[in-house]
Amino acid sequence: DLYNKLIEIKGNIRVFCRCRPLNAEEIAEGASAAIDFESAKDGELIVKGHVSSKKVFKFDSVFSPEEDQEKVFEKTAPFATSVLDGFNVCIFAYGQTGTGKTFTMEGREGARGVNYRTLEELFRIIKEREGIFLYEVTVSVLEVYNEQIHDLLLTGSEPGATTKRLEVRQAAEGVHHVPGLVEAPVTNMIEAWEVLQTGSKARVVGSTNANEHSSRSHCIHCVMVKGENLINGECTKSKLWLIDLAGSERVAKTDAQGERLREAQNINKSLSALGDVISALATKTSHIPFRNSKLTHLLQDSLSGDSKTLMFVQISPNENDVGETLCSLNFASRVR
Ligand code: ADP
Ligand code: MG
Repeated sequence: DLYNKLIEIKGNIRVFCRCRPLNAEEIAEGASAAIDFESAKDGELIVKGHVSSKKVFKFDSVFSPEEDQEKVFEKTAPFATSVLDGFNVCIFAYGQTGTGKTFTMEGREGARGVNYRTLEELFRIIKEREGIFLYEVTVSVLEVYNEQIHDLLLTGSEPGATTKRLEVRQAAEGVHHVPGLVEAPVTNMIEAWEVLQTGSKARVVGSTNANEHSSRSHCIHCVMVKGENLINGECTKSKLWLIDLAGSERVAKTDAQGERLREAQNINKSLSALGDVISALATKTSHIPFRNSKLTHLLQDSLSGDSKTLMFVQISPNENDVGETLCSLNFASRVR
């Protein structure tokens, strides 16, 4: 039937919704919860109806505030296996600033996120497959800010020096690359994590307000894997992209001027371009508008073909944020 058909054609795109807990400040203010987790069935998310009627959304998985990093990774781990099996994988965190995008992707010590756990899983499987497969892994760290791609592993020698700007080039039909991008070879988890941390530090050094800057740029980690099957000689080449997107909140026209307005317009442009591309891929439209933003152009090869995409839609439980929450949920429903 139609429902099964929809699942089939949308097979390579998964959408997980994660809701953060109310924070201490919100609890102190007596904030009320906008999300009903009690009566929701598996994969359902219910936005309580205060002003308008209640709204029900469906996702591949829904994570309530009680569900921890481990629980989230249980559902994410299969993507690591896919990368080693030769598939390109893109994992995104989308949502309003403060909803847990960085918590889900980066996490923190004692509550490691998807980036750390996925790398750990990659190296675990590489070890498990030793003698049967031989893998070479390199990592890159980039940032897209104001429609410009920056290499965070290739910074100037002085602290605070601006990072190098890069461009996407098409080498051949279906082959895009970024000339000059640093691809650091790594052989284990510790090395890989060190490189990624170096990239994160470069991001902070180059900006006056690290928090504000990170909410306005897309933070991108790329893990490239070359695999060789030692038994039949078959080779694979795949990429894993881990992306902490810029905040999706709408900026009021009256609040933004000059540089802020340009930032907001660029964020808007790249997030809607991403939504357009993923929904075009999901419905198998023949023209996929990859060129409409730097981010989608950069990811072109890894989003098309038999690639796998996972989008975390991060939301706030706070009734005061319900407007932004509905925007994010509608965006997610469109790409699903
Ligand atoms: P974003 O990157 O979307 O702006 P953050 O990841 O910085 O949001 O999260 C905002 C705050 O909420 C942080 O202090 C973070 O630790 C906390 N937080 C987010 N999600 C969770 C969660 N699921 N459990 C506990 N704390 C969370
Ligand atoms: Mg963040």
